[in-house]
Amino acid sequence: MDYCQALKEVLKHNIIWLEAQSCSGETIMMLKEGCEGVDDLFFHSSPVKLISMISEEKSGPDMMKDILNSDNYLLVVEGAIPKDDKLCNFGGMTCSEILKKLSEKAIGIVAVGSCAVNGGIIREVGGLGVGEVLKKKVYEVPGCPASDKTMVAMLYSVLQGGK
Ligand code: SF4
Repeated sequence: MDYCQALKEVLKHNIIWLEAQSCSGETIMMLKEGCEGVDDLFFHSSPVKLISMISEEKSGPDMMKDILNSDNYLLVVEGAIPKDDKLCNFGGMTCSEILKKLSEKAIGIVAVGSCAVNGGIIREVGGLGVGEVLKKKVYEVPGCPASDKTMVAMLYSVLQGGK
């Protein structure tokens, strides 16, 4: 299976992609190969839900209700979670609140990029990694940005049960 096929396979699953304090580097990495149809799958397909402070397509307070009621999804987090809640909030909730709520029903949690793993370059100003906030099992793909191929391999593996 080549990279584009593997990415499409992963993106067909129910994924909630939370973009917290981030430069969108991991999203860009996932899309940079220009695999046909992948940008559409990432931004517009119903299995993939993107929560982002800057995305117009799949974000908004109305959508948050649906997202928070979802079941059986893989939670992917890009970007750091700030200690200062004023720096990251969406739809009336802080990023840490959204993260904790979504973690309750996730079939797996994957932190992509060093900011999500340990705060990365944002740690200096109070950014935390997902595992520090949740205190539960988090699969991690470090790197700034994280490698696209490693991210896809990790997501595929976790969807297969983390083996
Ligand atoms: S790890 Fe690097 S590429 Fe990813 S969100 Fe942080 S600064 Fe951006």
